[in-house]
Amino acid sequence: MKGMKFLFCLLTAILATFFFINGKAKADTPNNSVLRYIRDGVKNKGWKPAAEQNWLSKSTMLPKNNYRYGKARPEGIVIHETANPRSTITSEITYMYKNWRTAFVHNFVDGNSLIGVADTDYQCWGAGAIANPRFIQIEQVEVHSKDEFAREQLNAAKFAADQLNHYHLGAASQRKTIWTHDDVSKYLGGSNHTDPINYWNNSAKDWFSGIYTINDFIWLVNQIKNNTLTK
Ligand SMILES: [Zn+2]
Repeated sequence: MKGMKFLFCLLTAILATFFFINGKAKADTPNNSVLRYIRDGVKNKGWKPAAEQNWLSKSTMLPKNNYRYGKARPEGIVIHETANPRSTITSEITYMYKNWRTAFVHNFVDGNSLIGVADTDYQCWGAGAIANPRFIQIEQVEVHSKDEFAREQLNAAKFAADQLNHYHLGAASQRKTIWTHDDVSKYLGGSNHTDPINYWNNSAKDWFSGIYTINDFIWLVNQIKNNTLTK
């Protein structure tokens, strides 16, 4: 009887360990059509996030203002969208370098490229007086196909994951380490823009018959950060 009991306990322990390890290693299956498409691209079509291009040598005229807690102390990342259906990533950057006194961000992204245009160790000027001293800011350029949109999200999420790691900011978390410009306007103030909400809504509806929100973006960032996107 005693032997049976021991065997039973041992079996339970082995099963529990098996399920624990299996459960830990596996990513949640995304219940979102955009995320499923991105994951399938990475898993089965050889998609890789775009390697960051460094254009900082062109940015010497930009002011170098520290974040509120100091140089190289950002607190998170703000996601923008240009709201211009006719621009390209290079036309946006050319415009920004000419008009930096009005606004500038750290990075631009589209379906094929991720380009660093201002040093992320210093604040940029894209989301108002409250957010600028706190956050790194990246601008999504409008793209015009299903694959480009999916890949743009992958590129932007990889950028966000890399920044969270580089500046030791922990996990992607809504209105803590990851903000939309819309979140800034609604919850911090100092701005009234609502990007990238319309762009994300329209793109998800047009190409995926679905929705795409900041929670989906955050899911993607954390999967990339934890290396679990294709597990
Ligand atoms: Zn914006």
